[in-house]
Order: sequence, then C-alpha cells, then structure tokens
Amino acid sequence: MDKNFSLQGFGSASVHAGHHPEPLHAHQTPIYASSTFIFDTAEQGMKRFSGEEPGYIYSRWGNPTMTEAADRIAALETFGLDLEVMGILHASGMAAISTLLFSNLKAGDKVLSHFSLYGGSNEILFKILPELNIEPIIVDLRKLDEVEDVLKKNRDIKLMYLETPANPTIQCVDIEELSKLGKKYNLIVACDNTFATPYLQQPFKYDVDFVVHSTTKFLNGHGTAIGGVLIGRDIEFMKTKATKVHRLLGGNSNGFDAFLLIQGIKTLEIRMDRHCSNAMEVAKYLESHNSIEKVNYSGLTSHPDHKVALKQMRHPGAMLSFELKSGIQGGIDFMNKLKMCVRTVSLGTVDTLLSHPASMTHYSVPKEQRERYGITDGLIRMNVGIENLQDILADLAQAL
Ligand SMILES: *Cc1c(COP(=O)(O)O)cnc(C)c1O
Repeated sequence: MDKNFSLQGFGSASVHAGHHPEPLHAHQTPIYASSTFIFDTAEQGMKRFSGEEPGYIYSRWGNPTMTEAADRIAALETFGLDLEVMGILHASGMAAISTLLFSNLKAGDKVLSHFSLYGGSNEILFKILPELNIEPIIVDLRKLDEVEDVLKKNRDIKLMYLETPANPTIQCVDIEELSKLGKKYNLIVACDNTFATPYLQQPFKYDVDFVVHSTTKFLNGHGTAIGGVLIGRDIEFMKTKATKVHRLLGGNSNGFDAFLLIQGIKTLEIRMDRHCSNAMEVAKYLESHNSIEKVNYSGLTSHPDHKVALKQMRHPGAMLSFELKSGIQGGIDFMNKLKMCVRTVSLGTVDTLLSHPASMTHYSVPKEQRERYGITDGLIRMNVGIENLQDILADLAQAL
C-alpha cells in the first residue's frame, strides 16, 4: 500500500496498516524461521551491534515477522489518533505484562490496581512483585474518590494498572478519569486492552502510557497461538529500557506464531462486529430466561458499569457471564449438555466458548474468596462466537 494513502476505515487498517513490503514480493508476510541474521562484513556486524545501522541480529531480539505483527497492532491502537507509538511482540500476554512491570518498577515502588484482574496478572502482582519489594495496592477503581485518597496517602505509587473490561463480571473502569488522576499524581498508567481490542476501545485516546494485550485472544482470533504485545507512547523508552528488559527476560515470540497473529488481525473488524452483535442478542435472551438469576454484560442497562462501557467502547464486546439459579450442580449439568458451544477456558476465538469457573478455573479457590470476586457457584462465563445467532441460541436453550 502507498504510504501516502490515508485509510478512512478501521477494517481497511486491519487488512493493510503496519504491513511491510517484502523484498522478494511475496504477497503474504513470510515466516522468518531463522535464529540469526548474517552480516556481510565484520564492520557491518559492528554497526548492527552498536545500533549505527538498523538490521536484525538474533531472533530473541526480534525478526521481521514479529516486527510486522507488533507494527500492525500499534497501528490499530493509534488508528485515527495523531500519535506515534512502538510495539514489542512477546511470547504471551504475561511476557508483555512482565516487560511492562520490570521495565518500569524498582524495589520500594508501589502499584495500584483493581480487584477484578486476569488471574495471571493478579498473581504476578501478589506472588512475584512483593518478593522484589514492590507492593501491590488494590482499590475499587470505579470509586474515584477512594482512588484519590489512596494516591494522596501513598506517594510511592509509581504505576496504575488498568484492565477493562475485566473478568468474570465484565466490570469496566473509566480510563479517562483514571488516566487524569494518574497524571495528576505523576504515575505511569498502563491498560490491558485484551477483552476490547483496539477496534472497540483505544486507551491511548485517554493519554495512557502503555497498552498491553494478550494477542492469544481476539487479535489472533482463532485460538492458534499464544502471544502478547506491549505498546508504549514513549518511543525512546520503548527502544531502550523496554527493549532491553524484553530481550533479557527472554519472552520473545517466534515467526510462526507472529504469522498466525497477522492473519487473524486482518479480519478483526468483521469478526468483532459479528461477535458483538451476537453477544448483545445472547445477553438479552439470557436475561429473559427464568432459570437465570443474573446476566453480567455491560451492554445491558442492568450492568453497573453500563455508562462507562458506552463512554469508552464502540460496543460492549463479546464477553459475558451469567448465574444459573441451580448452583454448582446446575452449572456442571448445563456444561455437559452443550452440543455445539465448546467447553473450554480462554476467549477470543471464532467459536462460542463456555466455562464454569466454580468447577474449573476456580475449583481450588475457597468459596468465600471466589464469591468476593463475583464467582458464584452457578456462574458461567461465555465468549460469544461468530456462528449464526440461531444456532448459539438453540444450543443454549436446549442446555438450559
Ligand atoms: C489471557 C489474558 C492475559 C494473559 O495472556 P497470555 O497470552 O495467556 O499470557 C492477560 N490479560 C487478559 C485480560 C487475558 O485475558
């Protein structure tokens, strides 16, 4: 695509933005399966290492397929914004989060976050950071007055870590207001944008410093590869500190996974449109069903964060959860009856996925503890897929 042609639509950007033309004119981005890259001369090797000449050296440090995947996501996160950012592709969402935390924090710092977080993110905050003398502080980030109180009392908070929407009750926090508070108290603000994708929500619009993704989910879209990306607006920091930490922690992606991710990204807009319209209808259907106690979907006016979701998202998304009145056994029976929808954890794939946290992901978490996070006995989490709506509804109806 001609660099001077300015794309009007997000769907066109999903197909084209961030693509690097290939010297041998391959139409599709090649998979660079090479651990190292050759120097023409010793002098060239010297220049590559010193940074005087751009070029690849060793695939833990990066390779062309990985660069393209990161550039594509960075382009979508800033689509329509007048902003330059840099992305670094990682082996997983957790690897990208690790680079974010370890490049920005040092002993004595504190991190502020919300109680509803992805399990791995919660564990890294509570099981890894404290051993390095970095303290996590959790508040309900939907209560801005409480957030400000905590910020006033803890001047050593260095980073605010947001994730919105978040598991399993699809809570949303106000990125704009939190980012403003963050700036007021000189914090670094980072946002996990995995559930929304850049199509539904662009945290950089609200001046956050970093966006992270588990690309394993909607960006890949087909459940074929684990991956993650860290995107930052301070290009100098991304090129130096973040690059150094990424290279040394060793959480690099690889050419094949990056290739799969690139293929997935091209259809992001049309997949999300279908995911979202199906999710809205599924949520309405479930809300009207008499064996269901409650539906957590931020597209419903009954959801406490409905307004925040509408303010910052193009559409409330494809994830929801619901509580069966029949408790833990009801949840197990329901899961067993599914005929088309898939029984599995994870999310973001084209097929509809359901999981029952009380008997699966949170089986070993004590009941009182999981209930505090909204994980009741009969809670079912659902990634609404892109199948035809009538088939999703028919499968749910027979299982209910
Ligand atoms: C899956 C997920 C992660 C972790 O990503 P991996 O690719 O599994 O390492 C982080 N945040 C959110 C919101 C996720 O859903």
